[in-house]
Amino acid sequence: MIMVEVRGISFGNTCNGGPMSLLTVQLVPSSKIPSRRTYWLKFFSIVTDRLVDENGVPSLGNFRDPIQEIFYIALSARTTDSQYRKTHRTLRYKFPTLTDLASASDEDILSCIRDGGLGKKRAAQVRGIAVELLKRFGENPSRHLRRLSAREVFDVLTGLPGMGPKSALCVMMYSLNYDTFPVDTNVQRVACRLGALAPRLKHWQAQQRLPALIPEGRSKELHIGLVVHGRSVCLPRKPRCRDCILVDLCKYGKRRVTKEAME
Ligand code: SF4
Repeated sequence: MIMVEVRGISFGNTCNGGPMSLLTVQLVPSSKIPSRRTYWLKFFSIVTDRLVDENGVPSLGNFRDPIQEIFYIALSARTTDSQYRKTHRTLRYKFPTLTDLASASDEDILSCIRDGGLGKKRAAQVRGIAVELLKRFGENPSRHLRRLSAREVFDVLTGLPGMGPKSALCVMMYSLNYDTFPVDTNVQRVACRLGALAPRLKHWQAQQRLPALIPEGRSKELHIGLVVHGRSVCLPRKPRCRDCILVDLCKYGKRRVTKEAME
């Protein structure tokens, strides 16, 4: 069973400058927190500093409004960055309200998302999310979601069609200002090469283990930093280790650079 652990709560400033709750939610059973946690907390603090120095904290196109973010995340799976941005814009233009979307046919929705490489299943998911949100909260669910506790929000989000823990944590981090740490494929790959995760972990295992190693209050900076790094430098097949600002921290990268130098 997946357990949601609330690590702590305090009040401070967001990256955007506004007040927020730094409620930290992790999908980590406390009995499984690694004994070397202190080492990794410091390690990821250094990694975060370097990535922020290098790239800042760029926008990945996410939304402050949780409902827009839910659909943005739902459309992002297995498509490219530019595709899902465009698909989301088209969908939003054609179906501006939840009622419009919930009352559309799957065919109508499909006609908006097909160019983004998405099919019938995703169209049904998108409509299903709209129907469920309308049924539970009416036309303005964002207001309701902001009033719920972390546990309640997480349960609502993971109860929506096709939304798993990673998607729920993304919505909580990007739109509801929680200090959650979603682990996507880029994040998992880079963390694995840096030595923080064992190779060949299943995604849910990575999602369970990694958040406990992330310094409090830095989840969003690090998540975005690792996503950007994974897309531009730590590429899946040919990581550009020689150009990497993390190479001195990365056993995999050091081995690779040494091997390339000997070839
Ligand atoms: S050194 Fe190479 S493997 Fe390590 S993080 Fe950088 S690009 Fe990835």
